[in-house]
Amino acid sequence: MSQAKYIFVTGGVTSSLGKGIISASLAKLLQARGYSVTIQKFDPYINVDPGTMNPYEHGECYVTDDGAETDLDLGHYERFLNVPTSQANNVTTGLIYQTVINKEREGAYLGRTVQVIPHITDEIKRRMMLLGDSGQFDIIITEIGGTVGDIESLPYVETVRQLKWELGHSALAIHLTLVPYLAAAGELKTKPTQHSVKALLELGVQPDILVCRTERSLSNDLKRKVALFCNVNVNAVIESIDADSIYDVPLLMYKEQLDKVVLKKLNLPLQHEPELEQWKTFLGKLKNPVNEVRIGLVGKYIELKDAYKSINEAFIHAGVANECHVKLDWIHSEKITDDNVANKFDGLNGVLVAPGFGDRGIEGKISAIKYVRENNIPFLGVCLGMQCAVIEYGRNVLGWKDAHSTEMNSETKHPVIHMMEGQKDIKHKGGTMRLGEYPCNIVKGTKTATVYGKTKIGERHRHRYEFNNKYLKDYEEAGMIPAGVNPDLNLIEVIELKNHPWFIGVQYHPEYKSTVENPHPLFVKFVRAALEKSKYVEKEIAV
Ligand code: GLN
Repeated sequence: MSQAKYIFVTGGVTSSLGKGIISASLAKLLQARGYSVTIQKFDPYINVDPGTMNPYEHGECYVTDDGAETDLDLGHYERFLNVPTSQANNVTTGLIYQTVINKEREGAYLGRTVQVIPHITDEIKRRMMLLGDSGQFDIIITEIGGTVGDIESLPYVETVRQLKWELGHSALAIHLTLVPYLAAAGELKTKPTQHSVKALLELGVQPDILVCRTERSLSNDLKRKVALFCNVNVNAVIESIDADSIYDVPLLMYKEQLDKVVLKKLNLPLQHEPELEQWKTFLGKLKNPVNEVRIGLVGKYIELKDAYKSINEAFIHAGVANECHVKLDWIHSEKITDDNVANKFDGLNGVLVAPGFGDRGIEGKISAIKYVRENNIPFLGVCLGMQCAVIEYGRNVLGWKDAHSTEMNSETKHPVIHMMEGQKDIKHKGGTMRLGEYPCNIVKGTKTATVYGKTKIGERHRHRYEFNNKYLKDYEEAGMIPAGVNPDLNLIEVIELKNHPWFIGVQYHPEYKSTVENPHPLFVKFVRAALEKSKYVEKEIAV
């Protein structure tokens, strides 16, 4: 059996308490004490992965290097830890059942009845132990999606019960609950926490640590009361007060000594105090920006900020790198037209056109790009945003009025974006896009080469359509430069414009690789260009 230690994180009372951030923050503290830590998320829904889900349902789909389409919490894990995750870090009920049912069809169960316990729970257990068994990690944090008491979470909680029993002191359970403030009573209330712990106890799991989400500080008396009702030590009742930024949470958890309590319970040495200098410097700059830029984020899912989570976070990292606050204006692409775009973009120092699927809002994205191209406003197009830049250039510079992607118009005479060869016969939607990290050669002398400071890069992909190389020569002659190319497949990965101060479109998703420690150079330099633009505008006004 593996030597790794296991921490299970469940949630109670309500969803959205921030299990992902608490898990990532604890992992950060343990990492900063010298342990090698990873986090995995088990989601109780039937989708095999979140790749087929609409962002309105589930927020952004986060893509790993190895091409897994995963829950957005994995993005937090990577941004906090600066260590890549993989397929093994996100498991769903759909995946578990698919594996078990495939085995049943192969006859692997030798005539036995296949049941939730032990077969489903054994498969959950096998996957919960996979990363630990790899020998790469000292500590594995396993976040259980959903809320304790949900029907669909039951097999996971049951597996945690079994594992806690089997692993003894090598495992512990953290339960995240809510301690609400009732304004009418003027009090914090512990009853929902007590009930939630009871629900967990009914399933046979005694939590070792309670992390209590709250708007107001918990008094010692209140902590004692929670401890008494829930069979935990007082020092294991951890306050998690609302924070201005998710990046504050590791330090708040440090103040509450969550890392120390965890290590003591796991019989692991505290080693040294957490090395958090870089993190603190980041926070200092985040809270004390010297400048501000306004960047428009043009997309069609803007009602739900989680749909563009990694882009949002990449801007926070890039803002810190430039010591400026990036104020994002979320602009709905369906609402943009050639007539109102000047008005909508008034005062913006840069515009990002977001990734997406389907034709809703496409014309608005194209109007947005025409405007920023003609008005020298810094532009970053991500995936569909890059494809729209190609369509816009085809229509308005090359004069092909019907230029389009075959995703939106399969009949166009100018399919400037078309489906990749390897995609044409694929019927299944799940997990069949071009996914994960691919190498890209950046062309020397381009703006993109300056941005990256190197010519060989790898970036993560999630798309089916591509630049149509049949039109490459026309585009080049008209001033659009292919600045990055996939060396194996000769696919255009980056485009930029010759006669524009900062106009870059990328077929991949740079936002997935931006972390606190390594802000992504494209976002950093894009924010820098926007900052310069804002100063230039000020100067112009001053003259
Ligand atoms: N819909 C486009 C494609 O499949 C772009 C995808 C995206 O923006 N991630 O190619």
